[in-house]
Amino acid sequence: MTDVLIIGGGAAGLSLAVMLKSDRPDLTVTVLERADRVGKKLATTGNGRCNITNTALNPERYHGDRDFAADILLQFGFENQKAFFESLGVLFCEEDGGKVYPRSLQATSVVDALRFKADELGVITMLNTAVQQVKREAEGFAVVCADKTLKANTVVVAVGGQAGGKLGSADGYSVLKSMGHKIEKVFPSAVQLKTVTDVVRQLKGIKVDALVTARSDSGLRTEFGEVLFCDYGLSGPPVLQVSRLYEGGNMTVSLDLVPDMSEDEVKQEILRRCEAFSNRSAGDMLTGFLHRRLGQVILKCSGVDLNLTCGEIPPKAVLRIAKMLKAFDFKAVGTTGFENAQVTAGGAQCAQFFKTCMSKKAKGLFAVGEVLNVDGDCGGFNLAFAWGSAFAAKNGIIEYLGSR
Ligand SMILES: Cc1cc2nc3c(=O)[nH]c(=O)nc-3n(C[C@H](O)[C@H](O)[C@H](O)COP(=O)(O)OP(=O)(O)OC[C@H]3O[C@@H](n4cnc5c(N)ncnc54)[C@H](O)[C@@H]3O)c2cc1C
Repeated sequence: MTDVLIIGGGAAGLSLAVMLKSDRPDLTVTVLERADRVGKKLATTGNGRCNITNTALNPERYHGDRDFAADILLQFGFENQKAFFESLGVLFCEEDGGKVYPRSLQATSVVDALRFKADELGVITMLNTAVQQVKREAEGFAVVCADKTLKANTVVVAVGGQAGGKLGSADGYSVLKSMGHKIEKVFPSAVQLKTVTDVVRQLKGIKVDALVTARSDSGLRTEFGEVLFCDYGLSGPPVLQVSRLYEGGNMTVSLDLVPDMSEDEVKQEILRRCEAFSNRSAGDMLTGFLHRRLGQVILKCSGVDLNLTCGEIPPKAVLRIAKMLKAFDFKAVGTTGFENAQVTAGGAQCAQFFKTCMSKKAKGLFAVGEVLNVDGDCGGFNLAFAWGSAFAAKNGIIEYLGSR
């Protein structure tokens, strides 16, 4: 019988194992990992650099059970996370928007630091061991894998969510459901958006800074940053950031391509160009103001005949061009799914857990990380929640085992 059995050797599971054994070396802590290595998803984060946390861990940056996220981050905020990783030898460096990376800029170094420490502390890690079922027993739990059943006093579900294609997992939902937990509908977030493709196809490969406003039946959100036009739709950091709203239905994404100018200023600039370059082809009216191909598509979408000269562009079209530069609209028709998503929205309802991440349905059962109904914005917020929930569970497990 192991004291603590952690299902999943990812961000939350590995950090929890290290925290537990650091505080209580006497406990037996076993990590069961489905893959042939621990931390495979963690090693891919932040484009291989691992956006490990954020200096501004504001609850507003979380969705789903936001109050629960707030409670977790109160227990283990940025300074605690920094100190924890420093103790493992991982120093932080900060980039724009409070995004924090390991100084090495290598996600694998974060995995290694956790892995080395877990080994040094005597955490037992069993690879290629996928958990299929967890059963409550008179004394603790039975954890059923394909070729063995393990007994444990406490069990932690740390299997993450479905995002990230093959690195994702839905196993946590079935395990928690079987223990009486409610699972809020899961859907991909921090994901590219599919749009009607007639226009985006012509713009494939173009990157442009824009103020992105998404509106759907779930609300409205505006983000600034670099948008990438793809043959299927839109990508880039601000698009990923607003993508969560797609689930609400009826989503439009509006790009303000000139956020530093008012519509009237844009109109005046177009009028000036039409006059100054009156003999030039209309198709080049926006050249030097906007990416050339993007400019030509905007002109076409505004009904301008590209065989005209700039001087022949009708005044009504000038207004349409100005409006389109301020609101280049796309109808979202889907997302690129869990395969490409960075995080899973939805998951195990947090009201059924104490602030220590212990289940209210089955004492001694805990859940941490992305399997819970908390998803954060891009910027290090999801890993921050993984570390924070691991810390809360560490204290909860020690308290629970001590009280028995
Ligand atoms: C491409 C990509 C980039 C990302 N970049 C960032 C970033 O830079 N910053 C950020 O904050 N967040 C990022 N995220 C999100 C972040 O990786 C996750 O939110 C975080 O890893 C969740 O931690 P977790 O421990 O809950 O799950 P995971 O890290 O996914 O760990 C779960 C572990 O459980 C194992 N497992 C699954 N099922 C079973 C089973 N049945 N039995 C045994 N083991 C099982 C898995 O193999 C995995 O090792 C990114 C996600 C992706 C996909």
